[in-house]
Amino acid sequence: MTTSGLSRRARSAAGGAMVDHLVMHSSVAVAWFRRDLRVVDNPALLAALASAGAVVPLFVRDPSILGGSRASDRRNAWLEAALASLDADLRTLGGRLVVREGDPREVVPELAREVGASMVHAQRDYTPFARSRDAAVADAVDLRLHQGLLLAEPEEIGDVKVFAAFHRRFAAGPLRAPLPAPDRVVAPDGVAGIPPDTAPAAGALEASTAAALARLHAFAARADRYATDRDRLDVDGSSRLSVHLHFGTVSPAMVAAEVEDDAFRRQLAWRDWAHHLVWWRPEAVGAAWREDLRDLRWDDDPALFSAWAEGRTGYPVVDAAMRQLAAEGFMPNRARMIAASFLAKDLFLDWREGERHFLRQLLDGDVAANAMGWQWVAGVGTDAAPYFRVFNPVLQGRRFDPAGTWVRRWVPEIAELPAAHVHAPWQAPGGPPRGYPPPIVDHAQARARAIARYLGRER
Ligand SMILES: Cc1cc2nc3c(=O)[nH]c(=O)nc-3n(C[C@H](O)[C@H](O)[C@H](O)COP(=O)(O)OP(=O)(O)OC[C@H]3O[C@@H](n4cnc5c(N)ncnc54)[C@H](O)[C@@H]3O)c2cc1C
Repeated sequence: MTTSGLSRRARSAAGGAMVDHLVMHSSVAVAWFRRDLRVVDNPALLAALASAGAVVPLFVRDPSILGGSRASDRRNAWLEAALASLDADLRTLGGRLVVREGDPREVVPELAREVGASMVHAQRDYTPFARSRDAAVADAVDLRLHQGLLLAEPEEIGDVKVFAAFHRRFAAGPLRAPLPAPDRVVAPDGVAGIPPDTAPAAGALEASTAAALARLHAFAARADRYATDRDRLDVDGSSRLSVHLHFGTVSPAMVAAEVEDDAFRRQLAWRDWAHHLVWWRPEAVGAAWREDLRDLRWDDDPALFSAWAEGRTGYPVVDAAMRQLAAEGFMPNRARMIAASFLAKDLFLDWREGERHFLRQLLDGDVAANAMGWQWVAGVGTDAAPYFRVFNPVLQGRRFDPAGTWVRRWVPEIAELPAAHVHAPWQAPGGPPRGYPPPIVDHAQARARAIARYLGRER
């Protein structure tokens, strides 16, 4: 699909006054970058170039996202670095990125008027926030939305309730071949913008398409081990492309074209599904998908929550997960499931608090994927893990980090324990080492209590 039929044509800004000092082009379009911070495989950028003689590449820093309650300094720094790199990539093509700040509902129409743009092209997004923003912008300008964030559009698959059915349809569909970068970006001169922040620290973040491609190629060479290694905590078995996919320094089509492994493509399908779920059920962002479980009463215990968030639960696998999150803004998928299960089921604290904490900490923090992950673990989502599936932190540790290499790295207090005790330090002769706490809850008791609470609600 080139231009999406979903875009809402409205009052056109075409014919708005051209600022005198702009080079006159027969027509101007705006390429509004959001989560597609790349020049390769960018359908919105290509459509903008095809639609007009000159294109203004635009990014709008929206304070309601960058400074909102779910914002993250770490993610903001990554974004700034990615903008600097996008700007550099656009300059090699003859253009440059115009960065403005404010509410896109005002900034985008203002810029379109300023440069006399008849159309604004952008990549389609699926969250409730993005949809309402785009609908408001489309009331003021001719906004054309394009695919690119996902491998399949919600309308191509339909509203299905279980992942297996979704995956059957997803896997049967064609894969879109990635599009090349444009040869040239002809941009009008004299459009003012704030230069991207090129603080030296940002450069270290590898926030660029070049860095994403280097990571992708390195991963493709070992992707045949993905199915066996992806759950291992002590092995670098997954791609770690999530932040790139989140901000679009690489597209899922570029990734899928490079990695044919079925197990890996299945995870890309989960990513699509998370976005489809928020598209079909926007009301379920921040609330349980299962309406019958929306009034489940969670405990409220700030001290327990802090012990979880700071990695002081006494369960090394949970503590390692939370400490890695704090240190790196990343956590392997298996660790996310274990840590989330511990909060929701062992501590019976509101999963939405955990969801917010993850969003504030994760570099790849993503409203759709994070909400789906938490709801799946807490057993309140569509097609979720059943309430009686409670991850056992000791058995999970022994299975996915058998020698304890990963927990020793993140929890140095237990580094000297032998493998037999490293996932259950309280069982070591003499108890847990000095400085490391005993378990804050007894897993077996907590599990029984959680199941009873779910059952009580279900009756
Ligand atoms: C509680 C919880 C919260 C999560 N929060 C997020 C989040 O905020 N942002 C995020 O991108 N992912 C989230 N995930 C999904 C998953 O954990 C990460 O995408 C994955 O760990 C990223 O590592 P990777 O790039 O090495 O993944 P790989 O295993 O290499 O997978 C490749 C890509 O597929 C996608 N993907 C993989 N697994 C999933 C999944 N289960 N759901 C959705 N997409 C997936 C990601 O884009 C990932 O980069 C969450 C999972 C759980 C259980």
